[in-house]
Amino acid sequence: MMTIAYQIGSGLYLNLTNRCTNNCEFCVRRDKSGLEGHELWLDREPDFTEVIKAIGDPTKYAEVVFVGFGEPLTRIELVKQVAQWLKDQQMPVRINTNGQANLIHGRNVLPELEGLVDTISISLNATSAEEYDRLCHSVYGEEAYTALLDFTKEAKKYIPNVILSIVDYGGVDITRAKDIASELGVKLRVREYIE
Ligand code: SF4
Repeated sequence: MMTIAYQIGSGLYLNLTNRCTNNCEFCVRRDKSGLEGHELWLDREPDFTEVIKAIGDPTKYAEVVFVGFGEPLTRIELVKQVAQWLKDQQMPVRINTNGQANLIHGRNVLPELEGLVDTISISLNATSAEEYDRLCHSVYGEEAYTALLDFTKEAKKYIPNVILSIVDYGGVDITRAKDIASELGVKLRVREYIE
């Protein structure tokens, strides 16, 4: 059975798509079909009604997070629709993203998220375009890294809390990553690599 919404701690996580423009070497999708006992590989993409039904009463949770087994912003129209429904109920909303949405959609999508999203966590994953390409294999090649840095800068204009995250994997230079986050004026979250 496919899982659209699942709880971790006090948060509810939403899984909208399998599609992703990366194929990261550390991605859990490479050798698993789920996480923490939840089957996350979707047979098909859910629509608004199915997502709302899967959420149930959002006020039972501390926040609702768009994550998934793929890149949630590939489905930006659905993200906006569900986020608006959550905001109508004063729910805190977070998106975890690879930061490539402006490349995916060919426009700056960040103004569209203003007022709908409280926190955006953008995966930095590397400290140079070459390293990003080596670890993440984006369909956009090295351009993806510059795009995600630009996305981070732009996000600060529209979203109150902008975070960069990095997986401690492949000899990545965490000190340099901290400097990059600091230069961009955002926080860095270092995530442990889980085999
Ligand atoms: S960006 Fe995220 S979902 Fe996409 S391949 Fe990388 S780790 Fe997996």
